[in-house]
Amino acid sequence: MTMTTPAVQPSPLVADFCAILPPECVVHDPVGLRTYECDGLTGFRVIPAVVVLPRTTAEVAACVRVCAARGVPFVARGAGTGLSGGALPVAEGVVISLQKLRRIIEIDAENRRAVLEPGVTNLAITQAAAPHGLYYAPDPSSQQVCTIGGNVAENSGGAHCLKYGFTSNHVLEVEVVLPDGSIVTLGGPGPEQAGPDLRGLFIGSEGTLGICTRVTVRLLRVPETVRTVLADFPSVEAAGRTVGDIVDASIVPAAVEMMDSLAMEAAEAAVHAGYTLDAPAALIVELDGPVEECEAQFAQITALCERNGATRIHVPGSAAERAVVWKGRKAAFAAVGRISPDYIVQDGVVPRTRLAEVLTRIAQMGAQAGLRVANVFHAGDGNLHPLVLYSEAAGELHRAEELSTQIAELCVELGGSLSGEHGIGTDKACSMPVMFSEDDLAVQLRVRSGFDPRGLSNPGKVFPTPRLCGEKPGKYRAHPLEEAGVIERL
Ligand SMILES: Cc1cc2nc3c(=O)[nH]c(=O)nc-3n(C[C@H](O)[C@H](O)[C@H](O)COP(=O)(O)OP(=O)(O)OC[C@H]3O[C@@H](n4cnc5c(N)ncnc54)[C@H](O)[C@@H]3O)c2cc1C
Repeated sequence: MTMTTPAVQPSPLVADFCAILPPECVVHDPVGLRTYECDGLTGFRVIPAVVVLPRTTAEVAACVRVCAARGVPFVARGAGTGLSGGALPVAEGVVISLQKLRRIIEIDAENRRAVLEPGVTNLAITQAAAPHGLYYAPDPSSQQVCTIGGNVAENSGGAHCLKYGFTSNHVLEVEVVLPDGSIVTLGGPGPEQAGPDLRGLFIGSEGTLGICTRVTVRLLRVPETVRTVLADFPSVEAAGRTVGDIVDASIVPAAVEMMDSLAMEAAEAAVHAGYTLDAPAALIVELDGPVEECEAQFAQITALCERNGATRIHVPGSAAERAVVWKGRKAAFAAVGRISPDYIVQDGVVPRTRLAEVLTRIAQMGAQAGLRVANVFHAGDGNLHPLVLYSEAAGELHRAEELSTQIAELCVELGGSLSGEHGIGTDKACSMPVMFSEDDLAVQLRVRSGFDPRGLSNPGKVFPTPRLCGEKPGKYRAHPLEEAGVIERL
């Protein structure tokens, strides 16, 4: 006797997608959907109703039109490496993955530009440009897997953004599918465009204004030489002072990265980069540019390290040795998994002059919460990445989230910002009122409404909502934008 399983009727939403995409591009089985339940902020998980994998801009637009017709929210997704819950699905909503749009459309060496589909990885751009003596400057540590679409949405940075700037400084033009399914081009192939900078507005909007389907980026010439130093310091303060001294000497290194002992312990265990395990802090300082300039500034930098009591100065002798030093730094987030079962990567900015103070306060807050915090960060621009270590199995998740939020808000208190490069996402939406007034947020929401009046594109991210932040007791008062009919309460 043969048993037959009764055929499950696909939902009307799935049927709509199956009418415009082949079956392998529509994921709706429970196991397949689980793959998309979170991004790098794994404490938040939501299973979407369906995941679609369009292969062209036209298919992305068709998928968005299905969502618009049904009033269903959608979330764009690149590689899912985001650390602020930006690609967290919406329950009953659609995830639109850009993983199948992976073509490098053009490397225009003469004009130093590359035209890319959004699913191209950050590193693949530099690899494709390398034969022309060119490279793509923003270099998030996740560059082997994260996509240029995700970089655009987050305005991602990286170690070398101190000298070269963030994604926003390197993107010339973006093609965007707006939340009603129409396709627009923002920016242009040249460096400056007439009129308001809508390209700039889109970059860093975390998927809330639409889906980017094509990106034109600027490529840079590979520098003539690179010099790197790894220096250990007797204290975080001494390392911090050195960073200030370098900047005061009018030197702009390509990168200035700091790690504390806990971060080095993890990175060393994973990569054997040659870090000193009992050093309280270390700096990686890298210069690039013309040989003569680099040599002169390199001598100044090593002298400044010595003046601040550096206990070891290691100068990698070859490109391979330099790569090992960087491998440790770039692997540091993942390596923390070796010393803790779970961790949250926080991202905040403080004025460089307050680095030592913020690190002391973070250590105190960690001790109070009974949790360890490792620090690895872009010291040159005051962009911290405290890693809050915890064990979910031991019931520490809630405490870790609280501590992580307190650290982000401390950055604002010290005159900095809630995020340097990882975005606000789900993680810090509730902290936005710490940094922005109600009027500021109202204006931001109004801008968003101009692109997405129905709030279908990545809802619940960036902007605080009572649902996410916990209902506050007391009588409900309508928001001024709600009274004006610009937004509605769902
Ligand atoms: C180990 C590790 C190291 C990291 N290091 C850095 C670092 O040095 N610097 C840094 O800035 N970040 C870093 N990150 C964070 C992360 O890699 C970046 O934010 C990256 O840009 C996310 O790209 P993604 O393709 O994974 O995007 P996802 O995580 O898939 O999405 C991120 C956001 O972008 C939106 N999005 C994705 N694609 C599109 C699109 N085509 N159109 C519109 N919106 C879109 C999503 O909706 C979401 O809001 C790191 C992450 C990890 C795990």
